[in-house]
Amino acid sequence: MLKRSLTCALFASLSILAPGAWAQGLPTGAAQAGKPQASQPRAKNVILFLADAGGVPSINAASLLGYGEPLRLHVQGWPNLGLSETSPVDQFVSDSANGMSSIMTGVKTRNGVISQSPAAVRGKQDGQPTKTLLEYAEEHGLRTGVVTSEPVADATPAATYAHSNDRKKWGEIFPQAFAPRFGDGVDVLFGAGRKEIGEQLAAAGGGFEQLSKKHDRPIYAELDQVPASNARPVVVADHVDVRAATLKALDLLQKSSKGYLLVVEWDAHTDDARKGLQNIVDFDKLVAEVQGRVDLADTLLLFTADHSFGLQVDGGRRGEPVLEGYDAWKATGKDDQLVRLKNVQVNRSHTGEEVAALAIGRGAEGVRGYFPNTHLFKVMMDAFGWTPDPAAKD
Ligand SMILES: [Zn+2]
Repeated sequence: MLKRSLTCALFASLSILAPGAWAQGLPTGAAQAGKPQASQPRAKNVILFLADAGGVPSINAASLLGYGEPLRLHVQGWPNLGLSETSPVDQFVSDSANGMSSIMTGVKTRNGVISQSPAAVRGKQDGQPTKTLLEYAEEHGLRTGVVTSEPVADATPAATYAHSNDRKKWGEIFPQAFAPRFGDGVDVLFGAGRKEIGEQLAAAGGGFEQLSKKHDRPIYAELDQVPASNARPVVVADHVDVRAATLKALDLLQKSSKGYLLVVEWDAHTDDARKGLQNIVDFDKLVAEVQGRVDLADTLLLFTADHSFGLQVDGGRRGEPVLEGYDAWKATGKDDQLVRLKNVQVNRSHTGEEVAALAIGRGAEGVRGYFPNTHLFKVMMDAFGWTPDPAAKD
């Protein structure tokens, strides 16, 4: 018995030093370089859930709103937690463009810039394109999907499939989904923004119809319009039912024999506290539902945010609604920077503190401690067993 536990202890300490390497007598360097090894099971699939602006205080408040108690969200029961630092290279507080670009490419950049190196000057000058996890997945022959509650060309989804020196250039960003640098590009793309993206495409001399024809790929206006025969559907709607879209995307991606990458964004800005917090509650329920449909032995689930937001619970009692006074505030129609409810204060701004990263499933163990958000790129690459290309020079 004693001998056995000693062996276990030895096993554990060796595993920490060099996962998998001890068994094959490989030098530790090989394991650290992230080379896939036959004996080391890797994730076949990765699903990234991105609560846009869903910082730690908002997750806390969402549990209070949804359940009247803290720690009731499904993701708060996941075993792996880290604190992910979100700043861009030159400021303290991130926007969605830098925040998501950092997670998707492993390279921090500047606010407003979509998956380009920090040499980019917003709206003026391109940096090097930084290769996204979705592009790696395409290169490796996986199926890929992006679902968002927001416009499909908005900063967060854009950072998965496009490169641009300005997040506002939707007329330049959206067509990149049809002209991929790797593989055949994002396979399943569901989001909103039909009107605004249509207008920007028109301003650039194009449109949905033109793009559809050129690439022989319909761009549907509603999820319901997608025929069962279409395995690579693109939907740009006015409004997206994130749950329906995510489950539909999952159905399609799970047909892939090589595995898949799915990214789901749900807005969690709390400029309107009830809307933002309810989105987190609903998102969390969706995460639980998705978890029930995957095998955690070959799938990594990761939940995080691109940056935090200035909402804080600073009062209240159990049994009292956390958003006491919300209706009265809403009725005033006030648009102040600072919103003072009975138990909650909202400074309606992105904030600089770290956000939670929560993980479960294959490869989740890399999510622990404080780290820059670029670490999450590494966690997902490691889960797949992929080594990033050497960094491009500016
Ligand atoms: Zn954001």
